[in-house]
Amino acid sequence: MNGEMHILVADLALACVNKTCRMILVPRWGGIEIGATLSDDDRIMWERIEPTGPKKQLVHRCYIDSEDPKDHGCVTRALSHAEGSLGFVELYLRGELGDAYPTEEAFLENLGLFLGIASHHIADLCTPVHVGHRINYKALGYKSYARFHQKVERDLGRAAHSATITLHRPQLVDITAEYFWGIAQDAYERHFSRLADLYERRDTQAIERMTDAVLGTAMRHTADVWFTVLKSSGMTDRRWTQAPLV
Ligand SMILES: [Zn+2]
Repeated sequence: MNGEMHILVADLALACVNKTCRMILVPRWGGIEIGATLSDDDRIMWERIEPTGPKKQLVHRCYIDSEDPKDHGCVTRALSHAEGSLGFVELYLRGELGDAYPTEEAFLENLGLFLGIASHHIADLCTPVHVGHRINYKALGYKSYARFHQKVERDLGRAAHSATITLHRPQLVDITAEYFWGIAQDAYERHFSRLADLYERRDTQAIERMTDAVLGTAMRHTADVWFTVLKSSGMTDRRWTQAPLV
């Protein structure tokens, strides 16, 4: 997914959440937008998340068709930023963040950034070429899988401009590794498994329908995770400052 589409996912998720959540998130829009593209802008590719876990993982992919844990970093990073956002709120509400975030605005701006980063990786988990790689790209006319990946993302980006989306009322979800694995598994089964056929037939209409689904699921899961963080932490029960950090 290109940067513009990542920002579109965050925009759409914002349109889905209720007014109470929007009042918290809208003033933090700068942080959310930076977060939604930060992993690409800063070219964060590899990350060591847990000292005891796999050595290093590639953070933009969760290849369902790979057994190697290095190929599953997108789940780890989506989970760590969703859980991290929740933990960050809880520490703030208990007054345990110390001097690192001296004002409410600074706390909220950083929360926006974390939620934006979570949205980036949730959207990657919905993107077919981020959840699988075993495909005969040569038979489809591409020199490398990277070239095919770029082509699919270009097509998604183009079709996103005229996508048909149904807004979604957010629900509480369990923020667990299984939840994020489920998103990747679903994208793999619904979209990646059909890619070879779609591109062999150059079926533009089917690619457009796939884009609707990819954009819609990325929006839906982002809205669910944001809603869960704000609601289950108790943030939605309090009034927060409206002023953005400028
Ligand atoms: Zn990415």
